[in-house]
This record gives sequence, structure tokens and C-alpha cells, in this order.
Amino acid sequence: MIVATNISKQYEQRQVLASIDLSIAGSEIVGIIGPNGSGKSTLMKLLSGAETPTTGTVQLHDKSISTYKQKELAKEIAVLQQDPLPSVGFTVREIVEMGRYPYQSWLGTEQTSKHPEQDIVTETINRLHLQHLEQELVDHLSGGEKQRVALAKVITQEPKILMLDEPTTFLDIGYQLQMMEIVKAWQREKQLTVVVILHDLNIASMYCDRLVLLKQGTIKKIGPPASVIDADVIASVYETRPIVINHPKLAHVPQIILDK
Ligand code: ADP
Ligand code: MG
Repeated sequence: MIVATNISKQYEQRQVLASIDLSIAGSEIVGIIGPNGSGKSTLMKLLSGAETPTTGTVQLHDKSISTYKQKELAKEIAVLQQDPLPSVGFTVREIVEMGRYPYQSWLGTEQTSKHPEQDIVTETINRLHLQHLEQELVDHLSGGEKQRVALAKVITQEPKILMLDEPTTFLDIGYQLQMMEIVKAWQREKQLTVVVILHDLNIASMYCDRLVLLKQGTIKKIGPPASVIDADVIASVYETRPIVINHPKLAHVPQIILDK
């Protein structure tokens, strides 16, 4: 579905990503992990077509991603940015409705009859338990609620591929799990492809089918969590050596314990 071949990214003199080969196909959750500044957000920008690589190619369905028109691309890929909701002055419902823009004509009416617009908006608001906040201004919401609204907006976009840049970083542990459970349930139901940048290695290990570990702009390791979340591998990337154990209840889910 998405194939990146030998991509690199340079900002002025700075090489931020180098020699990245990555194929993402079918219904899976791919986690991108790595230290601050290792190039995770930049990689996501290249994979989503938001930025073009300095060298190499990104193909979506065997076609260069740069050849897609904006609305066509938005029907394929939805992106939840790291700081997704600067939209002050809008209600929760208005924000969620904005997810429908790829399906609207310049008159603002739906072009497809696949779903009447309001049905999917209402359905998504209910699914994310936002009914009671529908008419509330997003400015008034807590961090966890804002993040649910941002997710509702991209769900309403009905993409085939969802890209999330650190969707859980400012959330407490309860909201982190809630967020990932919603993403996973939706991914399974619609057989979507999800690419997610996660800071927390334990959450990444619990929810991702594959992990891509970046170190200074290159892929250090790629594979199922059990092969990537390894004490030696983590120590070689993060300047600290954790203890790695198997999750006591979940099979093939390594978990790290910080050590001094
Ligand atoms: P991560 O998401 O892993 O923290 P980023 O992809 O945001 O890392 O950034 C990787 C490196 O690229 C950082 O050193 C950052 O300062 C640099 N960088 C990112 N975007 C730009 C830009 N637009 N111009 C210059 N440097 C950038
Ligand atoms: Mg980032």
C-alpha cells in the first residue's frame, strides 16, 4: 500500500533521515519509536505525502504519492498531528464535521451518498463518548477530551490509512489505554492500516503488530515487538538499559522496566 524506497530528508545542511526502506501493507498497526529528534515526525510527514523526500520515492498504491490531489489523498490517508487542535472557537461537532471535507464539493455538500454526512458525524461522536460535549467549545475541554475530538475528526474522514503522531503523549495512563483501544477496535472493524508514533515503549509493544525503531534518522531495527523491544537493542538507541520482561498476561508482548 505504502512503499518508501531509499528515502532521505535534508533540511538545509542537516540530514534528518537517511536510507529508509519501509513497506506498509494491509491491515496492521505499525509503531514508530525512537528517541527525541530521531526523525519520527519527519518520517510520518514523508509517508503521508505532507513533505517530499530529498531523495528516494514514496508510493501509494503503486503511484507516487506526490501525484495525488489533496482531496484524493485525504480519502486515503488521515493524519493526526502532534498538536492537533488549535481550532479555537469551534464546537466539538463542528470540528468533527471538518473531517468530511474531502467528500464535499465547493458548495460544502457531500459528493458521495455512501454515508449521509450527518450520520457518520453522529455515529463517531457517539463512538467516542462525546455526545454530552457536542455543543461545547473545544477550548473548554481537557487534554484527554481534546484528543478524543481530534480522533473523531480523522475517523469521520473515513481514511484507509490512519497516521497518528504521539496521540497519547500528554494523556494519563487511563486515557492512553482508552485512546489505543478505540484506535485498535476501529482498525480491526474497518481493516485499516495504522501508523502511529509512540513515546511509551510498553504501549507500543501492547498495541503494535510491528515496530520501526529509529536512531538518528536511520532504521535501527524493524519487526514484531518481541524482536525490537530487547534490552541490548534499546540500550544501543536510548542511552539507558532497561530490564525487559514478558507481559504476565499478554503473549508476545515484551514490557520494559526502567533500571538505574
Ligand atoms: P522526532 O519526531 O523523532 O522527535 P523530528 O522528525 O521532529 O524528530 O525531527 C528530527 C530532526 O529534524 C530534529 O533534529 C529537528 O530539529 C529536525 N527538523 C525537523 N523538522 C525540521 C525543519 N522543518 N527544518 C529544520 N530542521 C527540522
Ligand atoms: Mg516528533
